Order: sequence, then structure tokens, then C-alpha cells
Amino acid sequence: MRKIILILSIFLSVNLISKELKMEELIWERGESFLFFLQKNQIPLSIYHNLDKEDKELTAEIIAGIKYQILRDENENIEQVLIPISEDLQIQIYKDLEDKYAITFTPISYKIENTNLTFKINKSVYQDIIDNTQNSKLASALLRAYAGTINYTGMKKDDKVVIVYSQKRRLGRVYGDLNIKSAMIEVNKKPYYIFKYGDNDFYDESGKQLESYTFILPVGNVRISSPFNPGRFHPILKKYRAHLGIDYAAPKGTPIKAAGAGKISFRGVKNGYGNVIQITHSSGYMTLYAHMSKFGNYKIGDSVKQGQIVGYVGSTGLSTGPHLHFGMYKNNTAINPASVVRITKDALTGKEKQKFDLVVKDYINEIKHILEAKVTPIKEESFENIVELN
Ligand SMILES: [Zn+2]
Repeated sequence: MRKIILILSIFLSVNLISKELKMEELIWERGESFLFFLQKNQIPLSIYHNLDKEDKELTAEIIAGIKYQILRDENENIEQVLIPISEDLQIQIYKDLEDKYAITFTPISYKIENTNLTFKINKSVYQDIIDNTQNSKLASALLRAYAGTINYTGMKKDDKVVIVYSQKRRLGRVYGDLNIKSAMIEVNKKPYYIFKYGDNDFYDESGKQLESYTFILPVGNVRISSPFNPGRFHPILKKYRAHLGIDYAAPKGTPIKAAGAGKISFRGVKNGYGNVIQITHSSGYMTLYAHMSKFGNYKIGDSVKQGQIVGYVGSTGLSTGPHLHFGMYKNNTAINPASVVRITKDALTGKEKQKFDLVVKDYINEIKHILEAKVTPIKEESFENIVELN
């Protein structure tokens, strides 16, 4: 076990008795299952077996390499465990009023702030973002958003860059994924704008969509039996619920296609997900295909092209009928697959274009104000819940 980084002493007042608790931050080992984790820590397996199907499925969402926390009392007994399963939700193991272990899903709290960044070119767009903010996620997200539409060679020193975006903040530090809404990059004083419109698509000023990284639906356009849910409080069940993928109802044996080109990074059985294939793609994307009846002809490490058959629809794991559970991850965090699956790549027209033009006008005004305000960038320390694995 890799032992770890941060030890704090926390004084918790329980029934007027001060208890000294110690928090350990650990890293989830590759190949470790949730059941194995319970066993290893002498936590009764019944807390897993008593979960319903959906919650069991969520325990398969723990990603190797993720940081989690264990809180122990002075006798080394576990008081609490917190394991993130997405940017929004974590598994919490705790002791109930009868001092018995219990399990629940609790939200991870963070704030979303709308912010912006402006600077003059000194070295390059990418390097200047890093030098100004230390935020490499912002730098790669910006270049990805422009999707190779700019020829940077004519760029001069003192050309300006403006980025309008929102980011999450947790415990005072930048956290999780960020959302670029609009940007302007000057090349030899000529401005190039991009605008986000709709869920995840960028357009230029004229309403033409920029070619971005896109995926196809792995089983074609079939019925969605359960949509993506990042983690919301269920008013009837009175607990937090999440569904970190989309379920597509399809007959057993329906071929499952790779949503994008990539490398097979997992082939095997995963808790409630049954037979699972995972594909690692470029730009920090990963896709997961669960409940397969049969695997395709690809092994771990094999490269696949978009559309190649990686398996067949089934009902393995915790499943009430044949369906594909399709998960999409960006930088190890579950995102809604519907937001990156290709629909159409066209220019906006008619009413849609009129609506878009108003959005563009607002953003161009905002960018003008940001340029006039000349706010000095802040260097950020990031709160990385998810570690990069080598
Ligand atoms: Zn599912």
C-alpha cells in the first residue's frame, strides 16, 4: 500500500468528549475492488450487499489513482471513509448511532465561479497561460476549443488573449473540470473569437461550428432507458442518486462499436458493471462499455478505430435486461456522453442564428470590458482530487 501524504489532527466533540481523529489521504490502487477494500479494512461486506442495484453499480465507479480519505480514532479504528466517484459525489462509510458501519452517498461541495483571464503574448498562448495562472487545464482546454483553426505563426509579442470561463473551487483551490464560454486570440492584432453555444460546441463569429473532438453512439440511435445523472438528491428515496453514464436498451448480441479511436485500457469484469471494456482516447477522454454478453476481438493494449466492434450487448453484472451502459470520462471524471457525441457539424441558420448573434454580441462586449479593465492574473494552486497515473 502506498502510504501517504497528509496527516492532520482533528478534534471532534462527540457527547462532550473530545476525540482525537487522524486523517489519512490514500490513493486507490489499480485493480482494487470495493469489496476487497472493505475486507482489507475489516468493514463488514454486508454494507455493500445491502445496497440496491443502482448504488452497487456506483461503487464500480471508483477510479484507480483517485485520492480518498480515511479518518481513524486514537486506536486506529476507522471512523469514516470518503471515496470520490465523480466531481460531484462521494461514497461515505461512517459509523451510525449504534456504532455500526453504514454507507451513503454524499455530495462533494464546491463553488462555481465565473471568471476571466487576459494577458499579452510573451512566449506562446499555451506557455503564457501557464506562466500567468499555473493552470495547465485552462491552457489545453483553450487550444482544444480552437481546434487548430488559427495559424499562430503570424503571432506577435503584445497580441492580446482573453478567455471567459467558469471554474469550480473547493477548499479555496481550483477544482475539477472548467468550462470555457468564449475567447479571443489576436494574431498580428487581428482578433479570432470562439463562442460556446449549446452543450459543448464552439462556433466562430459567423456561426460556423468548429471541428472538435467527437464521438459516435456505440449502438446507434436506440432508446435511452436511463439518462446521465451527475448526482442529485432523490426526493422520494431521500438520498443522493447518480447514474454516471447512459443506458441504451438494445437486444442481446447487438454489436457495440468503439465511440472513438483509442486503445483498449480495460477488458474484464467490474463489480456491478459485469463485462466491461474501457477505451482510452486522446485529449484526456475515456469511454466505458458495460454489461456486455461477449467481448470483441481486442485485448488490453490493442488500438481500435472509431466504429470497430469491441463487444456485444448483454445483461452481465447487475442488470435487469439487456442494455449497454455507456460511460464517458474526461480527465478521469464522468461526463455526460450526450455532450460529446456527434450530432451535426453545421453552420447555424434562421432563428437559431438570430439567438446566437445576441449571445455573440454579449460576449464581444464582455471581452471589450475585460480588455479595458486590465485585471492582473492570479496564480492558482489547484486541488487535484484525481491524480494522473503514469
Ligand atoms: Zn447504467
